[in-house]
Amino acid sequence: MHRVTVIGGGLAGCEAAWQLALRGCKVALFEMRPHTLTPAHSSGNLAELVCSNSLGALNPDSAGGLLKAELRQLNSLIMACADAAQVPAGGALAVDRDVFSQLVTKRISENTNIQVRRELCTDFPTSPAIIATGPLTDNAFAQVLKDKLGEGMLSFYDAASPIIEASSIDFSQVFWGSRYGKGGEDYLNCPMDYEEYSHFLTELIAAKTVVQKEFEEGYFESCLPVEVLAKRGPKTLLFGPLKPVGLLDPRREKPPYAVVQLRREDAESTMFNMVGFQTNLVWGEQKRIFRMIPGLQKAEFHRLGVMHRNSFINSPKLLVKNYQLKDFPGVYIAGQLAGVEGYLESTGSGLVAALHLWGELCGREVTLPLDTLLGALAAYTVRPNSDFQPMNANFGLLPPFAMKLSKKERRQQYSERSLKNLLVWVNNFV
Ligand SMILES: Cc1cc2nc3c(=O)[nH]c(=O)nc-3n(C[C@H](O)[C@H](O)[C@H](O)COP(=O)(O)OP(=O)(O)OC[C@H]3O[C@@H](n4cnc5c(N)ncnc54)[C@H](O)[C@@H]3O)c2cc1C
Repeated sequence: MHRVTVIGGGLAGCEAAWQLALRGCKVALFEMRPHTLTPAHSSGNLAELVCSNSLGALNPDSAGGLLKAELRQLNSLIMACADAAQVPAGGALAVDRDVFSQLVTKRISENTNIQVRRELCTDFPTSPAIIATGPLTDNAFAQVLKDKLGEGMLSFYDAASPIIEASSIDFSQVFWGSRYGKGGEDYLNCPMDYEEYSHFLTELIAAKTVVQKEFEEGYFESCLPVEVLAKRGPKTLLFGPLKPVGLLDPRREKPPYAVVQLRREDAESTMFNMVGFQTNLVWGEQKRIFRMIPGLQKAEFHRLGVMHRNSFINSPKLLVKNYQLKDFPGVYIAGQLAGVEGYLESTGSGLVAALHLWGELCGREVTLPLDTLLGALAAYTVRPNSDFQPMNANFGLLPPFAMKLSKKERRQQYSERSLKNLLVWVNNFV
């Protein structure tokens, strides 16, 4: 019987604990919440989603969709709970965040191979162990990691979007619909004409942000605050979160100049997330400026946008393979802390680390094919890189095809190749 320590009951830690428990390991899963909270978590639930309730695209020919399919093929707990907690969101998999994290908590707590210990870890673990304390790793523990790993701790800044109470929205000014009609009435759309947009933009650019100097550098390019995008040019938002294309207001003949989209936060539609509105504005400014959006003049905010430092390690320097530390055999770093970016990427790294650790304990080589996104992401983290940054799942990570293919064909082929090879791998592995 192998005993393994997993530190951090987030997406990566829960997935890792689950995969190890499935294979007969006895797991001690340490989670510091609810006694110690992070700046973004607000509950004691395991696998709490700190920002958006969307887990990305569903289409199997997109990188997000393929990652989901790979995770399902490997019996991912997080994917199973996400599928069970799904709320309508067009072509994306969005979940009721409370139902989702309560479900993960229940499944983990009921597993007799997992003991959940609600404790703050302040010591570097002994092998075998997986450290998955996330981008908001507790400060004291981050210092322990720094001391052990040398100069290998890095960071960037990330932001979360506000959530609005549905009852405070003026439904006479907004309309339901998804871009190009894909997904039916999954989004609430707040249309703006040219004058409304210009006024909004001017105020947004001039608005006061939190500790501006500290945050000015080190944003993560794919999760930029809405006010930073606004400052890049008068039309930047129209190609980003306020993109109007494919959205027609049924009450007006003229297409909207800009559209703010709101996505359901729960199955009952009592709350809506402002899509792409992660922000670092001070709270008073958020209320003032976002209430300029048509339909949101009387908006009540369930949560306002926040900004946080995200920690990750310099994986190419510190990891050897499949998230294992070079200098500490049998100790793995998984999740966002290992330099993958995103809810399901973090989940996937927890899964891969657990499989590899389990293989090590049983004397078996366990490495996923490099033409799967899970295998390719793990390989990315150890590739020499003098400017290492956290990485989302994307097709650019996969080995290219020799033959010439259209973009659509290429996407299909990537997905087909990955799932076919993963199936062969799974069948040989069990
Ligand atoms: C503010 C913010 C917004 C984000 N928004 C998104 C988004 O919208 N979409 C997206 O795909 N990704 C987002 N991310 C990135 C990332 O996908 C999530 O942070 C994701 O939850 C990472 O998973 P994880 O398992 O690595 O960490 P987490 O899910 O954060 O889990 C880490 C766990 O470890 C616990 N912990 C920390 N230190 C200790 C300790 N010393 N002892 C015991 N327990 C400890 C924490 O309480 C936490 O439960 C966001 C990140 C941040 C910080």
